[in-house]
Amino acid sequence: MTPDLSQLTIASARKHLDAGDFSAVDLAQASLDVIKQKDADIHAFLEVFDDVLEQATHADEMIKAGKSQQLTGIPLALKDNMLIKGKRVSAGSKILEGYVAPHDSTLAVKLKEQGAVIVGRTNMDEFAMGSSTEQSAYGPTKNPLDTSRVPGGSSGGSAAAVLMNAVLGSFGSDTGGSIRQPAALCGIVGLKPTYGSVSRHGLIALGSSLDIIGPFAKTVEDTTMLFEAIKGKDWHDTTTVDETSHPSVTPSPKRIGVPRKFLEENKLADDVQADFDAALQRLTDLGYELVDVELPNVHYSVPTYYVVLPAEASSNLARFDGIKYPSSPVGHDEQAGLIENYSKVRGAGFGPEPRRRIMIGTYVLSSGYYDAYYNRANAVRRAITKDFTDAWKQCDAVVTPTTAGPAFKMGEKMNDPVAMYLEDIFTVSSNLTGMPAISVPSGTVVRDGVNLPLGLQIIAPHMGEKSIFEIGKKFENK
Ligand code: GLN
Repeated sequence: MTPDLSQLTIASARKHLDAGDFSAVDLAQASLDVIKQKDADIHAFLEVFDDVLEQATHADEMIKAGKSQQLTGIPLALKDNMLIKGKRVSAGSKILEGYVAPHDSTLAVKLKEQGAVIVGRTNMDEFAMGSSTEQSAYGPTKNPLDTSRVPGGSSGGSAAAVLMNAVLGSFGSDTGGSIRQPAALCGIVGLKPTYGSVSRHGLIALGSSLDIIGPFAKTVEDTTMLFEAIKGKDWHDTTTVDETSHPSVTPSPKRIGVPRKFLEENKLADDVQADFDAALQRLTDLGYELVDVELPNVHYSVPTYYVVLPAEASSNLARFDGIKYPSSPVGHDEQAGLIENYSKVRGAGFGPEPRRRIMIGTYVLSSGYYDAYYNRANAVRRAITKDFTDAWKQCDAVVTPTTAGPAFKMGEKMNDPVAMYLEDIFTVSSNLTGMPAISVPSGTVVRDGVNLPLGLQIIAPHMGEKSIFEIGKKFENK
């Protein structure tokens, strides 16, 4: 049979590949055909690799030799901030244009060991700053459901690649919501794993205490398969942990918390509220007990994040000085002094949003302001974490809408950074606490005559991925 990616999941493709119904090369060719047909319009990919069929041939050899693993021969895509040895990687920025990864990320090592087929690198907001994928230096990605709308961001290319059936799964990074928000806006599943459960080695850093790599897929089952393949301790990243470090997670969740007061403070459009209410009803019908939880400090999440994140981003981006990494747009001027070169390269290489955050971050970290802003934000961060730790005494998971609304029009929020920042109002708290959260499609609302998806976010205690997979699976099948 000829594989049709729109009819396949990772789980079903696995069965067909192992049964010999089609080969990994057939599947990779089908993926390339979809990209050729659709990506000129969508622009999910910054690059489609030239060795896709070779990778697939290798996967077929593994399958023939009886050495097939979960992801052998499965076409996947990686966000443009994850290193694959010998391939270009730019974090959506001009400052890294033409840069070639000198080594593999731990993610790439694991996927290669599995024999997965990495089709290409996907578009993203520059340095993963943004919620729409319009802030890429290489042009925006469009939402395949309605090309006048954004796919969400910053991992919008990875979400669009799955939605347009170019690949069966993909990876993004989530620092404040960049996997869950585009998953919701594209109507697919996206997981932000527990901080430290997936190695960040070879991920271009944005906010080191917030960043995590996670999967996008069409189903919770596929998402679980992708997460299982990439998680685990890694000596390259000393913040990594495994299940043994959090043995107390409830095996089977029963009670689900709803932060009603927080949700009331952020009044949703009637149809978005109706979708969330229907989701709560579905959870009740599935036998879960809903309880009200107080998260008294969670409404400080966005302002807290926008102090902590720029502080970390400004120091992480300091390494891009035009000397340690090549900078194609301007290059190095031998005649000029060091400082002059720095400002020339950084001024031309960084787009407006990285520049804005470098300014804010440098300000909040400067002596005299450090205590007033950065340390204060860290204190609030601890208070938000305590809110959730208290909530876990009452429930096994917390649910919210993933976003306050569906995919918005391209350009709508580009001149209003705060409106863009508020896209993450429900997602950033999980990055501040390090707790895992998933977005699962919950329903649709109509805008301009188009059905646009919404997501339900399910948050669990540290290392509680099993709980959110269990709830997510039942929810999506209900
Ligand atoms: N939208 C948020 C930001 O702009 C989150 C980004 C992310 O998760 N990478 O920082």
